[in-house]
Amino acid sequence: MAEGRCRDLPPEIFFPSDGVGVEVARRYCAECPVKGPCLEYALENHIEHGVWGGASERERRRIARSRRSVRPHAPAATSRAATS
Ligand code: SF4
Repeated sequence: MAEGRCRDLPPEIFFPSDGVGVEVARRYCAECPVKGPCLEYALENHIEHGVWGGASERERRRIARSRRSVRPHAPAATSRAATS
């Protein structure tokens, strides 16, 4: 957060109440040098509110769901490689 573009901006910008506000926050995040780590932090810590790493609450839920659905297949690929 110390390196983020939001560090000198009012926090309210990143906790919008509508889609227009989300777009405003995302524009700041799009040019942020720590966008990737910011998004990962929010996902790992299950932060539900606000725009983090350029992703809204809904988008983060979608990313988390997508990752959960992919992970169960990873060990199978590893064990298959071990037997060949
Ligand atoms: S990605 Fe957005 S919320 Fe995260 S540090 Fe950068 S400006 Fe702040």
